[in-house]
Amino acid sequence: MKLQHVSDHCFAVLNEKNRVCDANSGLINLGGGVVIDTQSDLAHGRRMIELFGKVWPGMPKRVINTHEDGDHVWGNQLFEGAEIIAHRTVKELMPHVADPKETQQLLKASDRVLTRMLLKALHPGALAVARQLQEDYDFDGIRLVLPTTVFEERHVLDLDGTEVHLIYVGPCHQIGDTIIHVPKEKIVFAGDVIFRECTPMGWNGTYEKWLQVLDLIISLDPDVIVPGHGPVCGVDGAIQMKAYLQYVREESKRCFDQGLSALDASKMIDFGPYGGWRAPARLFMNVERAYRELRNETADAPWDHAKVFDAVLAVAKANGIPVEF
Ligand SMILES: [Zn+2]
Repeated sequence: MKLQHVSDHCFAVLNEKNRVCDANSGLINLGGGVVIDTQSDLAHGRRMIELFGKVWPGMPKRVINTHEDGDHVWGNQLFEGAEIIAHRTVKELMPHVADPKETQQLLKASDRVLTRMLLKALHPGALAVARQLQEDYDFDGIRLVLPTTVFEERHVLDLDGTEVHLIYVGPCHQIGDTIIHVPKEKIVFAGDVIFRECTPMGWNGTYEKWLQVLDLIISLDPDVIVPGHGPVCGVDGAIQMKAYLQYVREESKRCFDQGLSALDASKMIDFGPYGGWRAPARLFMNVERAYRELRNETADAPWDHAKVFDAVLAVAKANGIPVEF
């Protein structure tokens, strides 16, 4: 984990492995301090606080959650008494989407001989993701702390005369997606609207909306974008995400028209210029999303997580590469 100074008053904490759960956090060190996203477990949250402590003396007064996924909100409890701001849907969805029990149980099941054997037989992908997570994470002790302030379309903070705009942009990668724009410093904290140098994991939302939001980010003309995952970038990060989504959507449509299943399509589609990104086999999730749209399913149709991980493992195997999530 490292701290990066991105503009006069903005900082980022980045998880360099850039695999699942390695989410970034941001800090705006004005107006009492604002932290953006709180990491995936308590140890990472504490380390993030320690790093931000080098440039901010106290505990920040405000926290923003860019969306409802666990890897962005599981450190919330470390900010006692802070105002936690998020889109209205984040507060509604967090208890379901970010319930830490599912992940805690998965890691425990992979520890016990009998359940491990069962997992290996039934859901080898779920076992593989549990093993990867155990290398870096411990989800014990996480208590869900919900947003205390919610908004609908926009929320503006005035931090010692510097405006910070929270703009609701969901559902694109997730229902509650929010980007944070600091116009005076030409910074955008993009949350998971942008994955950089790793394959996006989109859950509930549409391609159309996601592409529109990337255009919005480009139109804000930031000097620096802090993505939800991966290294800091400029607008090139938004342009590459657009190209990736367009590529996968087109390839998926071609395979769909040929009558292939989403899994078979994912095994066949060439990773193209994106094969060097982390976890390229997560392609399956983006193909499945395209298929959902082609089948006219709703953007919030539920996912079976174990099946998703199994499919990612199968795609990695088909490509002859070690699986990574
Ligand atoms: Zn996310």
